Amino acid sequence: MNSQLISIIIPSYNEASNIEPLYQAIANEFSGINYEYELLFINDGSTDDTLNRIKQLESIDPNVKYIAFTRNFGKEVALLAGFQHVKGEAVIVMDADLQHPCSLIKPFIQGYEEGFHQVIAQRNRKGDSRIRSYLSSLYYCIANKVVDVELKDGAGDFRLLSRNAVEALLLLNEGNRFSKGLFSWIGLNQKTIFYENIARQNGKPKWSLSKLLNYGIDGVISFNNRPLRICFYTGALILLLSLIYIFVNLLFIMTNGITEPGYFTIISAVLFLGGVQLLCLGVIGEYIGRIYYETKKRPHYLIQETNILKGEHRERNQ
Ligand code: UDP
Ligand code: MG
Repeated sequence: MNSQLISIIIPSYNEASNIEPLYQAIANEFSGINYEYELLFINDGSTDDTLNRIKQLESIDPNVKYIAFTRNFGKEVALLAGFQHVKGEAVIVMDADLQHPCSLIKPFIQGYEEGFHQVIAQRNRKGDSRIRSYLSSLYYCIANKVVDVELKDGAGDFRLLSRNAVEALLLLNEGNRFSKGLFSWIGLNQKTIFYENIARQNGKPKWSLSKLLNYGIDGVISFNNRPLRICFYTGALILLLSLIYIFVNLLFIMTNGITEPGYFTIISAVLFLGGVQLLCLGVIGEYIGRIYYETKKRPHYLIQETNILKGEHRERNQ
């Protein structure tokens, strides 16, 4: 019997109907694998029966661990709590909604045995609406030009990380976490496995349009200050153009006199410049907002209850 432990982190927010089938599917996979496993459910302030379902499993299977937050802190924070508390030599991150097929656990472990520190599952966009697929490929195209780390469409949190990779992630202690970028930032050798997208069976996705937009902005802003620089250049370009415009108009007026009252020009100039200024202020605000949150040094989450004994997990800064 191989005594190596594989940990699985499952962020769960209102997934009551998915907990039991997911547990069964994972347990089935591991019955044919020569590793021990622990399942760590992070109950991210669910308002449904999720926590009770997890506790039922915990009472029959000592491999089931859980951490319940005091409220909903978001999936990124749930993942952080997971990384801080798992003990496995390799760690798999998967969603609770059965969209991440358990059949990939074996290929993940195989990749780990081959010596890869990150084994990444990349899905296609089958079943997603056309417009959504188009918008996301556009987003990745732009984001990859702007940020320093590589972001791949379809390659999300569903992956296996070696202990080294997890330790590396834990060194990144920022509050505003964009996991996709952080996974990419730590580097280490990686293997990608492809799989077919699965539509969600039970429960609702937690992404609203505004959450998606915020996620997209985090992706770009979290990794460098290039957007600020772009603002600076746009501002400079517009200033230059308006100087040329003023100069040409001045020459025209000096030779021909004033022919038009010029309301339109004034109003369009005011609107345009106002827009550019607001945009730039917005970008600057984003960065200042981030500084604000980081300087507060609040804990990333609060735990209401857990079955992980104090001292059982490796001590870390939270
Ligand atoms: N999730 C979470 N906290 C949240 C939102 C989502 O822990 O605030 C969990 C959710 O229960 C699921 C995973 O994150 O296990 C992915 O959520 P969802 O299916 O809504 O996102 P998508 O599959 O569209 O990325
Ligand atoms: Mg999902």
